[in-house]
Amino acid sequence: MRNMVIIGSGPAGLTAAIYAARANLQPLLIEGKEPGGQLTLTTLVENYPGFSDGIMGPDLMETMRKQAQRFGADVVTGYVHSVNLTEAPFRVYYGDHEIQTKTVVISTGSSAKLIGLETELYLMGHGVSTCATCDGFFYRGKEIAVVGGGDSAMEEATFLTKCATKVSVIHRRDALRASKIMQDRALKNPKIEFVLNTVVEEVVGTKETGVTGLKLHNVKSREQSELKVDGLFVAIGHNPNTEIFKGQVDLDEMGYVKTQPGSTRTNIPGVFACGDVQDPVFRQAITAAGSGCMAAIEAERWLEH
Ligand code: NAP
Repeated sequence: MRNMVIIGSGPAGLTAAIYAARANLQPLLIEGKEPGGQLTLTTLVENYPGFSDGIMGPDLMETMRKQAQRFGADVVTGYVHSVNLTEAPFRVYYGDHEIQTKTVVISTGSSAKLIGLETELYLMGHGVSTCATCDGFFYRGKEIAVVGGGDSAMEEATFLTKCATKVSVIHRRDALRASKIMQDRALKNPKIEFVLNTVVEEVVGTKETGVTGLKLHNVKSREQSELKVDGLFVAIGHNPNTEIFKGQVDLDEMGYVKTQPGSTRTNIPGVFACGDVQDPVFRQAITAAGSGCMAAIEAERWLEH
């Protein structure tokens, strides 16, 4: 019987593990399919406080894991394929293992949707990004493209004009999905150009050169063209990783775990959620880590009472 099982090993889960381990709860953290989470897909992280020269995403996550283990957290490689949260003790299943636990911390994160191109994956972190707040700064004085027609794409494009000299928004239809106010803001921005009815067929570049351009296809005229850009931001939405919790934990209409305002408590006493799996708004490593700390403290208090 465990005091706490933490599902997911991004900044939220690992911070929960550090706090819980230091409270002598000997938490078990199950890493998931992508140990370290989304930060392992990035290169330099410049906005995580405490690293004045920045730190590579994978190094930051490796350091967090070691920090959690130093205080006695058990970190195991494995993928949780199902849970039973309907009665206490809760049950968590990964591989052939069944773990019983008094509390569960859900920190399974979210995954940015990708276009699905081989070259997009190859250049991820080398000119292809899914987070303007994280990587926009690297494109000062450069020309970049954003893919998507929703609020995220408008927000990212508008944000990126603070650094880039020109931002091309590439959208597959002739009408944007974004809310009127976000559309208007982007349409009025002289640095933003819209490339409609167009899909990206290939990202051009190498890991050494970074992104140098995009091969585009106009779905109406069927014309092919090439656009010279130094970076590509994919902003076509996120999927919270909540499949295994469906029907047990309350989720919102987009599939994110619902937590009580100002808290990491879910609808199930003893089950807490932190990080991107419950946050469609900020999605930052530091906010995820902050909510991981909250989850550990709330779980510890819940166990005490
Ligand atoms: P979204 O509303 O689902 O929009 C996704 C966009 O990406 C759509 O324009 C879609 O095209 C396009 N797309 C999807 N798959 C694609 C593919 N494979 N290739 C090319 N394009 C693709 O997602 P979102 O913009 O991330 O927004 C999610 C939610 O968060 C929304 O409710 C939004 O209002 C909210 N949000 C709010 C704010 C804000 O208020 N500040 C900021 C960000 C997000 P189609 O239009 O053709 O489907």
